[in-house]
Amino acid sequence: MQVPFLNLDAQYQQIKDEIQATISEVIESKNFIQGPYAESFEKNFNEVHGCKFSVGCSNGTSAITVALRSLGVGPGDEVITAANTFFATVEAIHEVGAKIVLVDCRPDTYCIDLVKMEEAIGKKTKCLIPVHLYGNLCEMDRVMEVANKYNLSVIEDSAQAHLAKYKNAAVGTFGNIGTFSFYPGKNLGAYGDAGLIVTRDEKLQQNLKMQVNHGRTKKYEHDFLAGNFRMDGLQAAILNVKLKYLSEWTQKRIDLAKKYDAALKNKGFKVIEVQKDGVCVYHLYIVEVSNREEVMNTLKATGISTGIHYPVPMHLQPALAFLGHKLGDFPNAENSCDRILSLPFCPYMVDMQLDYTVEKFLEVAKG
Ligand SMILES: *Cc1c(COP(=O)(O)O)cnc(C)c1O
Repeated sequence: MQVPFLNLDAQYQQIKDEIQATISEVIESKNFIQGPYAESFEKNFNEVHGCKFSVGCSNGTSAITVALRSLGVGPGDEVITAANTFFATVEAIHEVGAKIVLVDCRPDTYCIDLVKMEEAIGKKTKCLIPVHLYGNLCEMDRVMEVANKYNLSVIEDSAQAHLAKYKNAAVGTFGNIGTFSFYPGKNLGAYGDAGLIVTRDEKLQQNLKMQVNHGRTKKYEHDFLAGNFRMDGLQAAILNVKLKYLSEWTQKRIDLAKKYDAALKNKGFKVIEVQKDGVCVYHLYIVEVSNREEVMNTLKATGISTGIHYPVPMHLQPALAFLGHKLGDFPNAENSCDRILSLPFCPYMVDMQLDYTVEKFLEVAKG
């Protein structure tokens, strides 16, 4: 049996007719940049995800960069984020000229350790970027308590957490800004690059709109230097089709994760501990093993694809050597990076594939 890591083709087969019709419609209309498809997607995303204002943009990385700019973060400022994230989070901080300050994660939820986050706050700290990694939740009421105490702004990197909830409110709506990615493999994926920035603050929304579009007020009038981070009309239209299915796909993720949990937890394997009061939307299904290479190779030989998200923590990335960190600085992030394995996981996975994966996994994996 073949068990693909992610089955985008099965998804496409289900929605093929709608997608093809939409693509033709966009091309006929020639609304290629922003325009009615992007506006309609922003509005629909607000409704489905549960947020107030949205600004579509070019990808999840530019979403964070633009968010930092609109909050006035720049040279001389420090921004705190987790040592175990996807590289884009720290890239955006560096892009605006601020200093990257890393903090260890919790070993159970894999999200940023809030005690250590508070300890890392200094005079130059301007902004916190908690990452809702794997679709699990940071404890946002405590993040906001700390942010308010030190007067810091907050950007929630929600690239892996579409529709995730904490205390019944949508992620991305606790902080000043939430950012999303629609990279094809994300819970909601475009057929190319796309991203989105959400906020409750109408003034910020106005600024964000200009930040993604050359600091424009009118067509050839520019208030400030910004750049081009606009959303593509074709991607927006495709996302609009897929958005209708997102709740159903998300529920399927949660159901599949429960099945994996039931099979692996009582065998002593460490899996994601869902944050209390949170609804984790499982961007990935993570399990820890001590013999990862052996597990990956054995599963691969039986037709099962796995991945590692992510193998190298930020402080040990060659590109970030200038931060001056060393092995041992963030032990939880290091330990998880050495042990985590992402099992095949997507809403189109069938029970037979899951059972087969569990069976083969348990034959070889050591906790
Ligand atoms: C995917 C991702 C990003 C970047 O999104 P892109 O659309 O690929 O630029 C940022 N942060 C996290 C946590 C991600 O998973």
